[in-house]
Amino acid sequence: MSSALPTFLEPLGDGLWAIDTGFHRDRFDAAYLAVESGRAAFVDTGTAFAVPRLLAALEALGISRSAVDFVIATHVHLDHAGGVGQLMQALPDARLVVHPRGARHMIDPIALWQGALEVYGAAQMARAYGELLPVAAERVHATADGETIHLATRPLVFAHTPGHALHHHCIWDARSAAWFTGDNFGMAYPEFNVDGRAFIFPTTTPVQFDPEAMRASIARLLAASPRQMFLTHYSRVTDVADCARRLGHMLDATVETALAHREAPDRLETLTAALVALYRDAARAFGVALPVARITELLQDDAALNAAGLIAWLDRPARAAAAPARA
Ligand SMILES: [Zn+2]
Repeated sequence: MSSALPTFLEPLGDGLWAIDTGFHRDRFDAAYLAVESGRAAFVDTGTAFAVPRLLAALEALGISRSAVDFVIATHVHLDHAGGVGQLMQALPDARLVVHPRGARHMIDPIALWQGALEVYGAAQMARAYGELLPVAAERVHATADGETIHLATRPLVFAHTPGHALHHHCIWDARSAAWFTGDNFGMAYPEFNVDGRAFIFPTTTPVQFDPEAMRASIARLLAASPRQMFLTHYSRVTDVADCARRLGHMLDATVETALAHREAPDRLETLTAALVALYRDAARAFGVALPVARITELLQDDAALNAAGLIAWLDRPARAAAAPARA
């Protein structure tokens, strides 16, 4: 075990580490490692390209590959679960723990690949995500809502949390009084932190965004009185109550922006620009002192993804049927 940890491995206390998967840019996409009494679990993996870092993290901490009992996917979007197949191949005794709606996509990733292809296109898929490998069905455990699994003696409780995606669960770790929130408690760029406080905004990625479900899921997370949250994008947030309040406002504003542009001729372009403006102005009001051009640059990809997810929500048949007619 070397004395200096690799720079992509950040200790969080309570036997937890954040691993910067390197996806897209530094400190954008997190996986986590939990260690208890010599046994270990990963929470999320990043893409296939992140797997060498995950294995290097084990090595740096002196943990053998056969000590990993669980690979937990918060949800099966490829920036968090794209590397599951490769990682499972490297961990002989691990079980994959996944939401029941995500399980079949991990066993047979073809549909997942094709769905992502529609969102990202072939070139970005090859460059950013790499190959998707299947996981043998007998190694996959689908969670029940409220289920507890034990990492050695440490309980981890799963809550099914729709809103960002229907195949999403969050994981409560009582030891750290924290949720692994996946993408259901917003995203926070470290570049936007002001005096240690996170600027937080929702992630409404296609194709299952549901604002009412997201609000309900956030309320459920808060009911546990968490001391901290572990976000995929990116990492630990400690000012939980303040973040929740501001996230709620940003979610409302995001939905209002989508409704305001629902009839725009080029909705994706128009809504993307409107969201960039919304988040940029909010970030500046929050105190983010980066140049406006840099703020805009950092937001661009997520604003475009959020816009695509909002359009999928606007166009969802059930929603269209339920929506009140507007003058
Ligand atoms: Zn996601």
